[in-house]
Amino acid sequence: MDCGEATQLQLKRYKLRAQRINNIFISHLHGDHYLGLMGLLSTMHLMGRKEKLNLYGPKGLSEIITMQLKYSETVFNYEINFVEVDTTIHKVVHEDDFVKVYSIPLNHRVPCSGYLFAEKKKNRRIKKDTLPADFSVKNIIRLKHGEDILDEEGNLLYKNAALTLPARRSFTYAFCSDTKYDESIIPLIKDVDLLYHESTFMDEHAERASITYHSTAKEAATIAKKAEVGKLILGHFSVRYRELEPIRDEARTVFENADLAIEGEEFILED
Ligand SMILES: [Zn+2]
Ligand SMILES: [Zn+2]
Repeated sequence: MDCGEATQLQLKRYKLRAQRINNIFISHLHGDHYLGLMGLLSTMHLMGRKEKLNLYGPKGLSEIITMQLKYSETVFNYEINFVEVDTTIHKVVHEDDFVKVYSIPLNHRVPCSGYLFAEKKKNRRIKKDTLPADFSVKNIIRLKHGEDILDEEGNLLYKNAALTLPARRSFTYAFCSDTKYDESIIPLIKDVDLLYHESTFMDEHAERASITYHSTAKEAATIAKKAEVGKLILGHFSVRYRELEPIRDEARTVFENADLAIEGEEFILED
């Protein structure tokens, strides 16, 4: 999600392989959200990427990329599938075996979309220690789908529950990049497990936030509270704040389970 200038450096720093990225979601075309994209796409090309890459973003993104390629007379050796996201509606923009991704219309100075990631229903988990040694792959798939195992005549051989554990819970994550306070997103992100919401300013600069189409920590927390999310992560802090803890503390006065999105920090969602 989004691709700021230092994205490649951070991928390297946290030992994440760029070639494993198959889908990139860009929220809007302010530089701090996509200026790292051309470099990343070029590196993928130079590293010999062959697999198609899906690139989601507002109108204009494909034009920007295509123009840069045109004037550098470069043809990537992999295909980019541009998916133009309508930033005014909430709809599915991506779906695969594991996750469905929806757009979230945000309220910013330029067209801007957040993204909601909803994991699909997961398979039951095999109890490896109880599994008979000669069990076929076909039967393992049946178990994962919750079916009992029958013999050829249709007699019960194994009850599913004897060999499997319930599936893990499916989680939801909403990424709301630049936006001013806007309650219209609340029904779209209702009950998500994790919400990233920008909080560029603190309450003392609420007017500045409104003029620049950004949010305060208090406003982000209010959205989190009204949407009854599990956890709130705050980010996109104005450089005027040397200390970030006060931003988190301000949010916590409204919504307790709030943290700062510090680079490299991991947030684990548990069953
Ligand atoms: Zn912006
Ligand atoms: Zn921004």
